[in-house]
Amino acid sequence: MNDTLTVALAGNPNAGKTTLFNGLTGARQHVGNYPGVTVEKKEGTCEFNGDKLHVVDLPGTYSLTAYSLEEVVARDFLVQERPGLTIDIVDASNLERNLYLALQFLELGIPIVIALNMMDVAESRGMRINAGKLSDLLGVPAVPVVARSGKGRSELMEAALLAAKAQQNRQPLEISYGEDLDSALEEMEPIITRAAFLTDTYPARWTALKYLEADTQILDKGRAANPEVAGQLEKIVERVTSHINTTMETYPEALIADHRYGYIHSIMKQDILQRDDNSDRMYLSDKIDKVLTNRLLGPACMLLVLMGLYHFTFAYSEVPVGWCEALFGWLGGVADAGLPDGLLKSLVISGVIDGVGGVMGFVPIIMFMFFGISILEDSGYLARVAFMLDRIFRIFGLHGSSVMAYIVSGGIAGGCAVPGVMATRTLRSPRERLATLLTAPFMNCGAKLPVMVLLIAAFFADHEALIMFVLTLLAWAVALLAARLLRSTFITGESTPFVMELPPYRLPTVKGLLIHTWERTWQYIKKAGTVILGISILVWAMMTFPGLPDEAAQEFVQQRTAASAAQPAAAQEIDTAEEEAELSAEAEALQEKLDSIDKQEAEAALRNSVAGRFGTALEGISKLAGFDWRTNIALVGGFAAKEVIVSTLGTAYSLGEVDPEESGALPETLAASPGWSPLVALSLIVFVMFYAPCFVVVVCIAREAGSWKWGAFSMAFNTVLAFGLSVAVYQVGGLFM
Ligand code: GDP
Ligand code: MG
Repeated sequence: MNDTLTVALAGNPNAGKTTLFNGLTGARQHVGNYPGVTVEKKEGTCEFNGDKLHVVDLPGTYSLTAYSLEEVVARDFLVQERPGLTIDIVDASNLERNLYLALQFLELGIPIVIALNMMDVAESRGMRINAGKLSDLLGVPAVPVVARSGKGRSELMEAALLAAKAQQNRQPLEISYGEDLDSALEEMEPIITRAAFLTDTYPARWTALKYLEADTQILDKGRAANPEVAGQLEKIVERVTSHINTTMETYPEALIADHRYGYIHSIMKQDILQRDDNSDRMYLSDKIDKVLTNRLLGPACMLLVLMGLYHFTFAYSEVPVGWCEALFGWLGGVADAGLPDGLLKSLVISGVIDGVGGVMGFVPIIMFMFFGISILEDSGYLARVAFMLDRIFRIFGLHGSSVMAYIVSGGIAGGCAVPGVMATRTLRSPRERLATLLTAPFMNCGAKLPVMVLLIAAFFADHEALIMFVLTLLAWAVALLAARLLRSTFITGESTPFVMELPPYRLPTVKGLLIHTWERTWQYIKKAGTVILGISILVWAMMTFPGLPDEAAQEFVQQRTAASAAQPAAAQEIDTAEEEAELSAEAEALQEKLDSIDKQEAEAALRNSVAGRFGTALEGISKLAGFDWRTNIALVGGFAAKEVIVSTLGTAYSLGEVDPEESGALPETLAASPGWSPLVALSLIVFVMFYAPCFVVVVCIAREAGSWKWGAFSMAFNTVLAFGLSVAVYQVGGLFM
């Protein structure tokens, strides 16, 4: 063992764990995942009075029963890693309820200190808490703090270091659970102790309690460890359960919770809490809620806030986005000048710089968006949004919290499904979570926008804003209906009952916002640097190899030579200004001719590439939706990242390289091309909106859903759905045009 003390921060969601964590560790922190699951693990170090501490911010939990992934993770960490000390962060303005978790730590017998956080809020509500008395009654230190301002932090850490030494062998707290359960516990305890059943991790009584609570994780562990003893215990539990069932019409689990609350209540009654006598005073939060969750005003405010977020994200990020583009444009220029023509240059420019640059260009947007979302989240407003939308979302088999994943994915146009898919982690109910995760990619993410903008500019230039608005609504409609479809086919089952929490409104801290924003942005950048680079190179290879056959390449060389030979002898004497003008016009015409030959060669090479052959082979089917082989290639490229569609269309239409942001001549070229019409454009927009998510999102879906099966499912399901919709648009539209 090394002698660095590990301190775990535990507590209910929103109690202030992360705020305290940030205050303790500052920049010395690191975000990762708990092994094998998608729950975030935050670790950091801090120094106190010369001792170095390792601090871990555990996920927020209300209980230590294995109801949710967070709870399992927090519990496993506490019993397996055995931190030297756990600080239980308690929201003092909501003390009674928060002590429910504290009690379970006491029962688990781990060394803990209670941090009575949010003392400022409690005081402003006229509450006075007798920390000394509480500490006496619970038998562990209870230190008042204000995590946000840092008040009381050093007292807390001092108490923590002392407790870490003093409590190493603290006896687990024993609560009475009423006669029936107590006697069952007494019967089970000796069996557990004698067989040393799971005793290296859990206290015997605790294991017995978990058996009574029917905790699936412990039941599974028990069966694996010692089936015989497990069977014995299960039989006892079965007997008690049916007894309680018939005599009290309830379950042991509920009875246990009742007794825990009773225990806390009896502690609270001993003058722990005093209220100033102005109980008719309404809390500020409730006043704000009167307006913000009002039936009529609420949705109006919500729309305003969301529009504000959208405006903030896009208007303010414009300048840094410009810098990013300039940087990668400059890099491209340097590579263009510094490398000899050929494969390497094409790889560096089209594969590496364009691929990474295209994704990095979104970094400022993502930063601004996450900053805005962090404000909504930290202030408590996002919970109101979820609350208001919950009833509507339930109709579609989702949950009010799904809205956040949708918005992050591009619900107001311009997000990204990668963070969107990750945002589903806040959903506790597994089925709603899966349905959200599979439908979030239907939103109009930032990479689809350049494609939409291009097609709208080419065919519907007069109604740009209106069409964007309609497409946003369409994305929501399809996502919700698809969710409904999934919930009645592939993801069936009752929706999980879940009480929505409305945390009080709070002013977010700048530090918290910046850290939040940075973490999320960094996750995105890491992806861009690795997965996307690989895929971008792969797609580049698919669109480059095998290149033109020799004879065809030869033919282009001959064309070039022929064109150059047609130029009049250069050494002619220039006598008049007229002659000079004529000459330079000829030179220009030649250059144009050569350029056009280059472009034709690029187009021919693309058609002959792996992607081109694929696109050509698919033309038979894709014609049903109005797509020719060129569009098909672009759609294949779009799997790497949807913005690639624009640049690929540029190449396929002999325009050479096209920058997705400044597609210049491409709209006119498309509008003038024979295979194109507004109807084809519409059909393509619909397809791009709904077909397979880009590769990075597929990877994220697989990871979040816990199986590659769902990643593959989303590719297939979305593509089939999108194709169906596009064919419908094209065929039905064709009847009217
Ligand atoms: P976590 O879910 O436990 O990690 O909670 P956070 O650390 O994210 O805190 C939730 C909210 O409470 C944030 O908006 C914090 O700024 C706020 N907060 C945390 N500690 C305090 C405090 O002591 N006083 C007040 N007024 N707000 C706090
Ligand atoms: Mg937190």
